[in-house]
Amino acid sequence: MSSNIQTTQVPALTLNDGNEIPQLGFGVFQVPPADTAGVVAHALRTGYRLIDTAAAYGNESGVGEAVANSGLAREEVYVTTKLWNDDHGRERTRRAFEASLERLGLDDVDLYLIHWPAPGRGRYIETWEALCELKDSGRTRSIGVSNFTVEHLERVIDATGVVPAVNQIELHPEFQQRELREFHRERGIATEAWSPLGKGRVMEHPVIGELAAAHGRTPAQVVLRWHLQLGNIVIPKSVTPSRIEENFRLFDFELGEEEMDRLAKLDTGRRIGPDPLRFG
Ligand code: NDP
Repeated sequence: MSSNIQTTQVPALTLNDGNEIPQLGFGVFQVPPADTAGVVAHALRTGYRLIDTAAAYGNESGVGEAVANSGLAREEVYVTTKLWNDDHGRERTRRAFEASLERLGLDDVDLYLIHWPAPGRGRYIETWEALCELKDSGRTRSIGVSNFTVEHLERVIDATGVVPAVNQIELHPEFQQRELREFHRERGIATEAWSPLGKGRVMEHPVIGELAAAHGRTPAQVVLRWHLQLGNIVIPKSVTPSRIEENFRLFDFELGEEEMDRLAKLDTGRRIGPDPLRFG
């Protein structure tokens, strides 16, 4: 099967620990567990080489099945999973990590993330220490966080001296997170955008429609291209084969400076997902 898998043109970014990550990946939040192996198999055939799952998505087994049956070597596919809020704390983190590997059917992952800081639980620093130990053990190549604010990032960095390689955050044209992205840039943290298409909603914006028409592209392609040009890692989700393919065709056009400026103006500052200060 590997012979008919197209060679991928996705650029790689180098993380602060020296490891590389593909800049475009495939997210599987809300992909039904029973459909996940098939959907991920289509993504891998299309050329995606990063799959983003989480313990909480209930579909790690399907991801593992698709990777195992893809004909690709393990090192050709970048696998991210995440630690759920109930599993914060040193011992629980270790157990949850083992359980994720078991479900994925893998000996290691490429990136392990703390899914939410869940500040009300008061254990994200201890949890970050546990992730540092997992990285030292070699069973996750990189470690990072998700939904962390500047304050949460500063606290884990101050406590351990270890800067997360990635912060995966809600980010799309209507919620651009400029301050947090600037902090990431200063500290060498890669920005990974979740709900990069605003769950499909931002694509209805007339400016995005205009830019899409000007380039002969779809609104989704314009939004994903904007992310890539900002330097974000981007992980769109779709269960629709034609959209999975459409979201991968981003490497043969470019948005101009003026077009990037027009998209910069679409920020409303309103998130669509939960507030990390309250969630978990
Ligand atoms: P997205 O912004 O990726 O949007 C997904 C929605 O857009 C789906 O309804 C999909 O429909 C639709 N869509 C996809 N492509 C197109 C297209 N080309 N044209 C029109 N509609 C399209 O939202 P997600 O919330 O899924 O985010 C992506 C990934 O980010 C997740 O899968 C997950 O991996 C990660 N994530 C992480 C979170 C975190 O807390 N760390 C939180 C949320 C997401 P359909 O599937 O029906 O084709």
